[in-house]
Amino acid sequence: VEKGSGCGCTCEGGKVLIFACSGGSNAGQIANMAAIKLDEEGCGRFYCLAGVGGGLTDMVESARSADKRVLIDGCPIGCGKAVFEREGLQADAYVVVTELGIKKRHEFAFSDEEVEKVVAAVKEGLGR
Ligand code: SF4
Repeated sequence: VEKGSGCGCTCEGGKVLIFACSGGSNAGQIANMAAIKLDEEGCGRFYCLAGVGGGLTDMVESARSADKRVLIDGCPIGCGKAVFEREGLQADAYVVVTELGIKKRHEFAFSDEEVEKVVAAVKEGLGR
């Protein structure tokens, strides 16, 4: 996919960072794959939630200085949300995979449709 081709981006030149919990379940992996797709479509740059969670100064500062932040959690436990709250970061679009009618299971198979649901919810959250 060509960068910037599929997102209808309205913040040309703006720095959008995308975070996903990338957790150990279908829901976490759907969050991860949605972040990859959003990056590939040019919606923003998939960034490392673990680095922010670990309090790595440069990574926390990058997250803080972004124009917009997208956060995708797999389930209501909200690990990404907890990381953001601890660092005082706001998400401009926040999506929880299980709130889109996707049931969390400890297995790793998922469909393109499930990923697309999350991608669409993020775009809606960003007002695109
Ligand atoms: S938000 Fe849910 S799926 Fe994601 S890492 Fe936390 S417990 Fe796992």
